[in-house]
Amino acid sequence: MSSKQDKHITLIGAGLVGSLASIYLGLRGYKVDVYEKLPDIRLEDIPAGRSINLALANRGIRPLQQVGIMDKVEKLLIPMKGRMLHDEKGELQFQSYGQKPEEVIYSVSRAGLVSLLRDEAEATSNVTFHFKHPLVDIDFNQQTFIVEDAMTGQQQTLNYDVLLATDGAGSPVRQFMEAAKVGHFSSELLEHNYKELTIPSDQAGNFQIEEEALHIWPRGGYMVIALPNLDGSFTVTLFMPTNNGEASFANLNTPEKVDNFFKQYFKDAYDLIPNLTELFFENPTGVLGTVRSEKWFHGNALIFGDAAHAIVPFHGQGMNCGFEDCAELNSLLNQFDDDWQQVFPAFNEARRDNANAIADMALDNYIEMRDSVRDPKFHLKKSIAFELEKRFPEQFIPRYSMVMFHHIPYAQAQSRGVIQANILQQLAKEIDSLDQVDWQLATQLVQDQLTVLPKDYLQ
Ligand code: FAD
Repeated sequence: MSSKQDKHITLIGAGLVGSLASIYLGLRGYKVDVYEKLPDIRLEDIPAGRSINLALANRGIRPLQQVGIMDKVEKLLIPMKGRMLHDEKGELQFQSYGQKPEEVIYSVSRAGLVSLLRDEAEATSNVTFHFKHPLVDIDFNQQTFIVEDAMTGQQQTLNYDVLLATDGAGSPVRQFMEAAKVGHFSSELLEHNYKELTIPSDQAGNFQIEEEALHIWPRGGYMVIALPNLDGSFTVTLFMPTNNGEASFANLNTPEKVDNFFKQYFKDAYDLIPNLTELFFENPTGVLGTVRSEKWFHGNALIFGDAAHAIVPFHGQGMNCGFEDCAELNSLLNQFDDDWQQVFPAFNEARRDNANAIADMALDNYIEMRDSVRDPKFHLKKSIAFELEKRFPEQFIPRYSMVMFHHIPYAQAQSRGVIQANILQQLAKEIDSLDQVDWQLATQLVQDQLTVLPKDYLQ
């Protein structure tokens, strides 16, 4: 192919990951055409889709810094320093996410962030968005694809040099790859759905519950969470089984049942959601699932972001992982001097096991958030883990922190997490407070079982 500047990239899907990828590519000098199914949220008031706000963590922040837009993103962020747990009686317990002041995650509006990313992509002068233009077909052999103008229904067949697809969890491009028998794909729906509600600000525009926290109402088999928005409101999400039992979407099918359910199990939240039953029946019920794929490329086409590896949202990492994909792609373009034929397999190799690892950890974290956090032993282990991190900062880092605050590849965070869980299990056995820990044994276990982490993995 000709020089990089002449080369043209086709990108399908202008969600969070596609919009960031287009900035990287625009900055590299590629001419990028982005085809997006939906209207432009900057111009039309449309639902933001999947979740109204989401948690941004260090893995997502580093790529935003790399493309030089973090100062603008910062204006959209609300720090969340830990979990605020609400029990059935409305009693609160705050649990810090990390032990250093900088160990926080941030709530950010999906619509705000995606709008900023698109503005910045256009500011490179190399990126053109085509909204309301869904991809409807692709021919990998001929390197052609068909897009439809959603306004007129007219279809156009276009050629591509390189086609990148960030078209989300239900990715049509992934489905075309599946049909072409490219590697093995699996897609597993969780038997739990979600529903978004809102706690508005008070009349003066202030937050009605602690602003700098991710609130959780853990109830064993189900839970409610809430993340703050810049306007003083909270986006509240109920996660619950789809079909089974009293606490299920199938059962909550009348306003009375919804009202009673919230009054009984989430009383303090119930008191802050004035139009609960209207919202419950107006807002869509979202589905959740995990997508795993073995091979993410076919010829000159590559999928990444949720298209390749959608995960459940309980570690708050789907977008962060997709942003890390963008940084990895950029770094491999540097390494292979923009030779996409080398970049595609190297990218696939670098990301696949990590994507599978965060998929597993996200599933684990649902149980932690909705259930384990209610167990006093969980809190004891958390305190021991923080103390071990103080004593061995390059060896023992709690798993949550490895994922949220550092750049340790997910697969390593997962395998170290298993070792650490065993160490904590051994140390917490038969004791009930931190001052009873056998620190000599702790030192021996850490030194024997955990290697020193490379510096560039740490924050
Ligand atoms: P998407 O954001 O889904 O974007 C895909 C885009 O492709 C869309 O704009 C879509 O319209 C477009 N598209 C689809 N089909 C076509 C087509 N045929 N032609 C053209 N365009 C098409 N992640 C976090 O990091 N932190 C969180 O706290 C967090 N919370 C979440 C909470 C919930 C309830 C859910 C469901 C997800 C959450 N996530 C979170 C995950 C996060 O939303 C996703 O990982 C992220 O949106 C993935 O970005 P993406 O660009 O790959 O896909």
